[in-house]
Amino acid sequence: MFSIDSMKSPSMPDIGQTGRVLVVEDEDLIRDMVVLALEGEGYAVTSAIDGRTAMSLLYELEPRAGELPFDLIVLDLMLPQVNGLDLCRLLRHQGYAVPILILSAKGSETDRVLGLEVGADDYLTKPFSMRELIARCRALLRRQRLNYLPQPSVLQFGDISLYPQECRVIVRGEELTLSPKEYRLLELFMSYPRRVWSRDQLLDQVWGQDFIGDSKTVDVHIRWLREKVERDPSQPEYIITVRGFGYRLG
Ligand code: CA
Repeated sequence: MFSIDSMKSPSMPDIGQTGRVLVVEDEDLIRDMVVLALEGEGYAVTSAIDGRTAMSLLYELEPRAGELPFDLIVLDLMLPQVNGLDLCRLLRHQGYAVPILILSAKGSETDRVLGLEVGADDYLTKPFSMRELIARCRALLRRQRLNYLPQPSVLQFGDISLYPQECRVIVRGEELTLSPKEYRLLELFMSYPRRVWSRDQLLDQVWGQDFIGDSKTVDVHIRWLREKVERDPSQPEYIITVRGFGYRLG
């Protein structure tokens, strides 16, 4: 069922693949075959024999907030300790967008649907060929590069809630009407709370580098944004002026 010759790469062997893959599988034979196949493709592979080990690898190695130390997780469903579905659900709940390929001995439609419902990106039923596995992994990693920016469903700061996928902002229970530039400014501030932005950086980020104009444009938009967001725009609590530098949120 897991034949060695099917592990040969279907693609050109001289193109090395890049990507860090975590393989979570409790069956030694399958885990070893999967690791070997992915390493043969040039991926950096780490393996875990159960859900708890996987979690400690995911979280202990976490280099910075919002980014896991892996680009892809190959995840068995039936695992000792923490099972694959719960692990998948947890990662998605925490907002991690890392692609997840589920491996399962169960082939029923219900399991497949359940796996995709908790946020897996793809699903392979055992037995599978290594060629198929590699093709799926490669597709997931490619897709991930296209939309690598994880989009949280809500950004929260004090009384402000910003919903990036809907471009909506609620402040103290009221929905704001913002111009696109005001919205982008606020989204940028809320993505990096307390970070100080110079006027030039804000121009680059929000207006784009082609913008011809001066940094007073920023001040004008900040004033408009304060009028909408602040309780008392003359005493801002949110969008703070940092003298000699620029602006920051909070
Ligand atoms: Ca298993």
